[in-house]
Amino acid sequence: MSAPRPENGRSRLAEGSRRSPLRPPATLGLGLVLALAVGACSAGDGAGNRSSAPSGGGALRVVATTSVLADMTRHVGGARVTVSSIIPPGVGPEDYEPRPEDARALATADLIVSNGMGLDDFLARLIEAGTDRAAHQVVLGEGIPAISTDGRPNPHFWLDPTLVARYYVTKLETGLAEADPAGAATYRSNGAAFAAELGPLDAELQAEVARIPAGQRKLVTDHDAFPYFARHFGFELVGVVLPNVGQEPTAADMAALVTEVRAAGVRAIFSEAQFSPRLVQALAAEAGVSLVSTLYSDALGSAPADSYEGLLRWDVGQIVAGLTGGAGG
Ligand SMILES: [Zn+2]
Repeated sequence: MSAPRPENGRSRLAEGSRRSPLRPPATLGLGLVLALAVGACSAGDGAGNRSSAPSGGGALRVVATTSVLADMTRHVGGARVTVSSIIPPGVGPEDYEPRPEDARALATADLIVSNGMGLDDFLARLIEAGTDRAAHQVVLGEGIPAISTDGRPNPHFWLDPTLVARYYVTKLETGLAEADPAGAATYRSNGAAFAAELGPLDAELQAEVARIPAGQRKLVTDHDAFPYFARHFGFELVGVVLPNVGQEPTAADMAALVTEVRAAGVRAIFSEAQFSPRLVQALAAEAGVSLVSTLYSDALGSAPADSYEGLLRWDVGQIVAGLTGGAGG
């Protein structure tokens, strides 16, 4: 109710100017952003805590907020685009604090891709800091019928591949074409090819899920990223440890969740890579169930979870293993 950082906060606010090129006193604002960027300590190009390196080599520069959205953009943009993500792989968006180098990335973008619906609200703050940019924007999650918790729409649509095929791909085609009209036909064709891959992927994943006895399709995860996944693949979402990212559950919250986990006969609890495993470990120990493995939700991981499709395969594989594993496993 009084979450300090609800992950679905003020998305409308952030999206008021979506897709329209933010024009004007162009040089001034851009200069500001660049000044910000240049002011950043040159942490260097070393590995680690850095946005994903641009990839693609195309002329249209696209910056996506998350690594998952960046990967989808690569599929639809193909050879015409160079894509990077603001948030490094392995880091969650809901409590992400932008760095000066993020302003530098945005300053050079032709198109900014975000999810909206409260997932990546930090983008609005970044853009406000340099309002005069001329980049196009596309907000992929906007307008998709949402599952709400406590009145807040859940932004994690992409964990249902049919929603990606139906909505995200179409919006990417449109957004890319607005930023690069000469590529419109290419984006449509790439988008169709990507959506066509998602059908067989979905069938493959459904077949995997079918290996879990229906009564054991119960999920408990770190944060509330899996409602669309659960709805699509037929899981019951028994609970989440962090209903509001950035807000620790109380001892009473945890005790209630332990009770639910036991009552539901949940076979395993899953950690998510972007969070410390501390709380789920405690929950699993307290409830006497195994902590199975790491799922990826908002951010890509290392191979084989280093692409959108790889992420889905990985998650389904881990969930199937966790919920079908023998008691001694
Ligand atoms: Zn999330």
